[in-house]
Amino acid sequence: MNNLENLYRQVIMDHYKNPRNKGLKGFKKIHYKNPSCGDDITIEANIEEGIIKEVNHQGVGCSICCSSASVLSELVKEKSTDDALRIIDKYYKMLLGEKIEDEEELDEALVYQGVSKFPARIKCATIAFKALEQLIKGEENEEREY
Ligand code: ZN
Repeated sequence: MNNLENLYRQVIMDHYKNPRNKGLKGFKKIHYKNPSCGDDITIEANIEEGIIKEVNHQGVGCSICCSSASVLSELVKEKSTDDALRIIDKYYKMLLGEKIEDEEELDEALVYQGVSKFPARIKCATIAFKALEQLIKGEENEEREY
């Protein structure tokens, strides 16, 4: 393991053990289950006049799923919904192994770039992002499969 991979691993484990913005407050939410891994997560967002005021999450799952929900909650805070959608799209591209520009915009979410080598885990890394994307687009649900 090289130094960068080690750093990435530390960031993931920190968010997994000390999740930011965990716990729901009653905003519009999306609940997703990923049966292939057992991830079960709910994402809620408070969006006011096109600005994401807060994103909260609740659920159980693997370290990639739970930590990425925590990373996402910090990544998009106080961003416009347009900026958030662009960042989410860039994140998907990174996970597909595509070349991306201005990668620093992904901030701590860059730690998941190694997941692109493990296609079975891509859902774990994108489930929270997919939920937020759909919340921004005006959807909400009780539960669905991812
Ligand atoms: Zn998972």
